[in-house]
Amino acid sequence: MGNSSKPVVIITGASAGIGDAIARRFAAGGWNLVAVARRRERLEQLAKDLQGVAEVAIVAGDVTDPQIPEKAVAAAMETFGRLDSLVNNAGAGKWAPVKDTDDATLDEVIDTSLKAPFRFARAALGSMQAGSSIINIGSVFGVLSGMAGGAYSTVKAGLIGMTQALAADYGAQGIRSNLVAPGVIRTDMTDDYWESDYFQRTNHELTPFDREGTAADVANTVFFLASQEGSYINGQTIALDGGWSTTK
Ligand code: NDP
Repeated sequence: MGNSSKPVVIITGASAGIGDAIARRFAAGGWNLVAVARRRERLEQLAKDLQGVAEVAIVAGDVTDPQIPEKAVAAAMETFGRLDSLVNNAGAGKWAPVKDTDDATLDEVIDTSLKAPFRFARAALGSMQAGSSIINIGSVFGVLSGMAGGAYSTVKAGLIGMTQALAADYGAQGIRSNLVAPGVIRTDMTDDYWESDYFQRTNHELTPFDREGTAADVANTVFFLASQEGSYINGQTIALDGGWSTTK
C-alpha cells in the first residue's frame, strides 16, 4: 500500500483531448494520477511528460470492461494509498437522430458514457474519505437539444441524474459530486465537424464573446471543483460554453 502525501485522482479517457488536459492540470496543481484509457502508449507518453511533476499509475483498458473500475481504484490504493477524486471523462461521441441509431450504437454509448461512470463511482466511493469528490463530464447537449443528439444527449442527461443522486446520497459523508457540461471543444471527437456550419455558428455567432472554448478551460473548471476552493459546490451542472447555452 502506497503512502502519497499528494492528493490522488482517477481520470478516465486521459489519453487524449479533454482528459489529457485534465490530467496535466491536476499534475500542475500538485496531484498524483491514475490514468485510464485503451491506448497504453498514449498514457505512457503522458506519464513521461509529467515526470518530476506527478506520479502516474497507468490502467490500460476499456472502461466498458466491468473489471476496469475496480482495477483503477486498486491502482490508486496500492500505488498511492489514497483516492481523493474521480473524473469520469471517457465518452463515446456518436451523433445520429434517434430514428437512425441502431442497437449497437445505443449500447456502445450507454456502456461507455453512462454504465462505466456509474461503475467507476460505485468502485471509488468505498475508498473515498470526506473531502473527496466525483466530477462527471457531461455535455451541454445533455441539457439542451443539439445536433443529432440521439443516444449521446440521452446518456449525458442520465449523467446529470447520476450526479444528483451521488450528491444527495454521499453529501452527508462529505463526498461531493458535480458535472461539467462543455459546449463544443476541438478534440479528436469533434475535429471532423469543426468547420461545419453548426459548429461555426455555435462558436462565432451564438457564443457571446468570439473565442472558442479549449480543453484547458474544461480542465481548469474540473480542477476547481475537485479543490478545496470548490468545496461548497455539490450536485451541480456547470455549463462550460462561454454562455452559448443561454443564447441558444
Ligand atoms: P476524445 O475523443 O478526444 O477523447 C476521448 C477519450 O476517452 C480518449 O482518451 C479515449 O481513450 C477515451 N475513451 C473513449 N472510449 C473509451 C473506452 N471505451 N474505454 C476507455 N477509454 C475510452 O474526446 P473528448 O476529449 O472531446 O471527450 C472527452 C469527454 O468530453 C467525453 O465524455 C465527451 O462526451 C465530453 N465532451 C466533449 C465535447 C467536445 O466538444 N469535445 C463537448 C462536450 C462533452 P482511448 O481511445 O485511448 O481509449
